[in-house]
Amino acid sequence: MSLALARKYRPKSFAGVAVQSHVSDTLRGAIARGRVAHGYLLCGPRGTGKTTLARVLAMALNCENKASDGEPCGECNSCTRIWSGSSSMDVVEIDAASNRGVDDARDLRERAMYAPSGDDRYKVYIVDEAHMLTREAWNALLKILEEPPPRVVFVFATTDPQKIAQAAAPVLSRLQRFDLKRIGTSEIVKRLQSVLGSEDIGAVPDALAMIARAADGSMRDALSLTDQVISIGEGPITSGRVREALGLVAEDEYLAIIDLIAGHRAGEMFETITRLADGGVDFAVFLSGLADMLRAQLAVVLNGKADGITPSALVALTAHRDDFSPGDLLRMLSLLSGIEPQFRRSSQQQLLIEMLLVRFALLDRSISLEEVLQGLGTPNGPQSSSPPAAIRARPYQTLARAAEAPVQVEKTPLYPEPQPAQSSPDWKSEFDQSSKSSANTRLTTEAVREERLARLRAQDPVLDAAVRELDLDLLD
Ligand SMILES: [Zn+2]
Repeated sequence: MSLALARKYRPKSFAGVAVQSHVSDTLRGAIARGRVAHGYLLCGPRGTGKTTLARVLAMALNCENKASDGEPCGECNSCTRIWSGSSSMDVVEIDAASNRGVDDARDLRERAMYAPSGDDRYKVYIVDEAHMLTREAWNALLKILEEPPPRVVFVFATTDPQKIAQAAAPVLSRLQRFDLKRIGTSEIVKRLQSVLGSEDIGAVPDALAMIARAADGSMRDALSLTDQVISIGEGPITSGRVREALGLVAEDEYLAIIDLIAGHRAGEMFETITRLADGGVDFAVFLSGLADMLRAQLAVVLNGKADGITPSALVALTAHRDDFSPGDLLRMLSLLSGIEPQFRRSSQQQLLIEMLLVRFALLDRSISLEEVLQGLGTPNGPQSSSPPAAIRARPYQTLARAAEAPVQVEKTPLYPEPQPAQSSPDWKSEFDQSSKSSANTRLTTEAVREERLARLRAQDPVLDAAVRELDLDLLD
């Protein structure tokens, strides 16, 4: 069997790590200047290059022919061994998901005391899934990091730094932290094109975009999916081949469903879904594809363009630009994500999808906030903080909020001292306090309202001007 693409094309240098130049440049610079830290924390979504960067760092630290800019040669005996993940005495990779406990940490501690295999070498511990380590394990590691042995470097990789912050805050303060970026669709496509070019395999750009979307920001997944597509056929990679290999639903199907929703044609949903079911569609895959398409429609409605869809889909979505408001699409996306937890376990997936889509087609289009305010002439209730910029942009809404914000009786100071117009943090904290107190007794009287309004007007001349220009009766 041929070598998996993700392995075969794993970068051998800092420069080769896609997208993460903000991390790789810093690490390379540290190597070049001989200022490598004892501990690093690499955070980021899966498949974004955390382990790869850790290995390149280990290669650079131990390379026999390191370049003056800090890049490893990638060719020497040491580089080759580390790169391939085969036995290198000086690089220890630990998967914390399977070695979480204190015993392993103790073992690690003992092993860390052994010096690297040569005077000019570094011992590098790469701890994957580091958020899985127990508190006890972190405590043991903290002891090492407090007095690190010379030429020992720890690299922790995690998808969930928050968990480490909870379990091991003191350790975090001893690590240099880097946050890796999620890899965008176009970056993944670029990389796939270069890899397939080296493999002498042609590919339609749309097909690669489909793979990239399915990989959801993970370069490793994108390459594995490409392996999967290559394995089922000959010749260039086409959209049809990708759909078949990955069980994806054709873009046209999603666009047809968006047509039905836009046209309120609820009755035709059943037929469409039945056809998809007969075609053997995996509805879980379908659901996430539909979410992508609705998200793209939202992007088109908001700013006229969308990433990661084909030009023909963009044309179709642009045609529906006036059929949906952002509010409509947000409601759909929220309903859609709402059914996801129960969806995978459900034995009635088709029924759930039908109900959802019929509901979409029957959704009353949401009306804008301005329409509501104008129609009712009533305020829209207490809300959370609102910065001055928003006040200038939408005086109606904010005045209404200011007047209706609940006021706590016993809380002192009830009103803060007048602030300069630009003091947004004070605005924020005042409103925050108001909304936090909502569980307590509220006192919303005419007097309070007026006094509050006067105070707000005094604080912000723009607001004051807006109040004068607008009909104040609206507030009462
Ligand atoms: Zn080398």
